[in-house]
Amino acid sequence: MTNAIPGAARAEVVVDLDAIAANTAVLRGRVGRPLMAVVKADGYGHGLVPAARAVLAGGADSLGVAVIEEALALRSAGITAPVLAWLNGPGADVAAALAADVELSVNARWGLAEVLAAARAGGRTARVHLAVDTGLSREGAPPGEWPDLVAAAARAQADGDIAVVGLWSHMAYADAPTHPTIGAQVRVFEEAVELARGAGLTDARRHLANSAATLALPETWYDLVRPGIALYGLDPLGGDPARHGLRPAMTVRARVALTKRVPAGAGISYGHTYTAQRETTLALVPVGYADGVPRAMGNRAPVLAAGAQRTIAGRVCMDQFVLDVGDDDVAPGDEVVLWGPGDEGEPTAQQWADVAETIHYELVTRIGGRFVRRYVGSAGSV
Ligand SMILES: *Cc1c(COP(=O)(O)O)cnc(C)c1O
Repeated sequence: MTNAIPGAARAEVVVDLDAIAANTAVLRGRVGRPLMAVVKADGYGHGLVPAARAVLAGGADSLGVAVIEEALALRSAGITAPVLAWLNGPGADVAAALAADVELSVNARWGLAEVLAAARAGGRTARVHLAVDTGLSREGAPPGEWPDLVAAAARAQADGDIAVVGLWSHMAYADAPTHPTIGAQVRVFEEAVELARGAGLTDARRHLANSAATLALPETWYDLVRPGIALYGLDPLGGDPARHGLRPAMTVRARVALTKRVPAGAGISYGHTYTAQRETTLALVPVGYADGVPRAMGNRAPVLAAGAQRTIAGRVCMDQFVLDVGDDDVAPGDEVVLWGPGDEGEPTAQQWADVAETIHYELVTRIGGRFVRRYVGSAGSV
């Protein structure tokens, strides 16, 4: 995605920085404890550095990313807030992370060994978060390996090579707040914490809550929360974000490239999966699957054009799709909104996710290609 500021953009993703800051403040106020704002995946498609500045302006205490490259990009932009990178495979550049004062998560003894080697070589104390797998079966040491990892980390801490500043895990079912796995994960987490504290890791802060847990499960808040999607104004529970005081920060729109009248019976787009029922006006919208508009949205997704929501007519192509606007007055250059906050009649990312049988996370993180990103609002501007 380019970030040039256009005159009249053909296709743009508009990001409301004030909404991101306000959403952060809502969550921070709700939990009344530190908030690690997750800005991985290019700030969930909103732009890594502007999103980071906006969440910090909104009161975030620290930042969370998946990989070290993301953390280093934050540092290169001059962001000095604490940053945790948690997805560190073998050979990850932990030396660069330590030199940039990036906190690292460790899952296993071999990961600890890599961090220790880099800390010793660099003459630094690495700030480490130990991850325990409490039932997601994704990151973290399985409970059977936890005592050994904790013991090794405690020795390294005693030697001054690392400081264990976090003990954490991630939830499988926080978006289903009554699911039995939640209690089970909490129990495993608390046992793991107790074991770590008993081994001398007493200064580490505990963190477990993603957005859904931050909204729905106060018993998972511990010493800090770790939300992502809710900062961008989307409801992880699949509802209306306004009920949580959140506002979607992303609006996706494009300008009509061409209009034409076609007769009844005209087949539209590849494979003619849509046929004009009567003489009608077609509007060509110049964004497609190469830009992150899922191909599966053909004949399914709604967009706002000329004051009404209309379903994409026929297949979404690589660079474009077509709308059937009937006899409505649509001209080349007119705006079409794919999704936005929803308060001006446009569809929401949640609506798109529902028809795509996916989650809004996937839509906002994949929108890109030739869309130009434009920022509105001033939160975090430098
Ligand atoms: C992505 C992620 C989060 C944030 O999840 P949301 O559902 O977006 O709030 C938190 N923790 C970890 C480990 C993650 O991977």
